[in-house]
Amino acid sequence: MVRHVRWRAVSGEGRGCDWRGDSALQEALFLAKFASRVHLVHRRDQLRATECIQEYCFVNPKIGYHYSRTVAEITGDDGKVSGVRLASTKGEPEEFVPVDGVFIYVGVDPTNDLLVDLVDLDEQGFVKVDQNGCTSLPGLYAAGDVTDSDLKQVITAASRGAAAAFDAVRYLDARVCSL
Ligand SMILES: Cc1cc2nc3c(=O)[nH]c(=O)nc-3n(C[C@H](O)[C@H](O)[C@H](O)COP(=O)(O)OP(=O)(O)OC[C@H]3O[C@@H](n4cnc5c(N)ncnc54)[C@H](O)[C@@H]3O)c2cc1C
Repeated sequence: MVRHVRWRAVSGEGRGCDWRGDSALQEALFLAKFASRVHLVHRRDQLRATECIQEYCFVNPKIGYHYSRTVAEITGDDGKVSGVRLASTKGEPEEFVPVDGVFIYVGVDPTNDLLVDLVDLDEQGFVKVDQNGCTSLPGLYAAGDVTDSDLKQVITAASRGAAAAFDAVRYLDARVCSL
């Protein structure tokens, strides 16, 4: 049973693409429900997540922090993870942390190349849409992870896709009928 399993995990927060800085902390909180210890590796010397999520993490005794560190190597034997070698971003000696699992969580980076010059994007590069999925360019719709929606899950992508398709048909109908 899960409660008897003793394991440790690393939740890594990495590149500049990290979405609002919350992703790794949310994942660390989730992992702490199952793991005996969670090590959070962060390349900066302080967290960028929202204050509230930071507070939840700081009061959780299972979560430990490795600031100004990056994962240099994941070590293992016989296909099983045994630990991580952590490099310092400040020139300090390397550190080895024994863990049983590694979860890389760097957030999301929208694939928006196609849209950059066509529609309005928010500061993270996500496509701004109205409640029907219409972008700033009338007749062009977007749905799912590429949009500025908060919850990026399969079910929300599918439902927003359905809403966008429905409105796109209405948009076309209005033009066909006005011919
Ligand atoms: C590791 C991981 C685990 C996840 N786990 C879950 C989970 O357990 N439950 C859950 O609900 N959600 C989960 N998600 C989130 C879920 O996968 C996404 O929310 C969902 O796939 C979004 O669907 P989408 O259609 O918007 O984008 P995507 O599924 O990313 O589809 C976009 C498609 O567009 C294509 N594409 C990109 N650019 C172009 C272009 N220029 N021309 C043509 N095609 C292009 C891509 O190749 C891709 O096929 C997870 C995501 C990740 C990364």
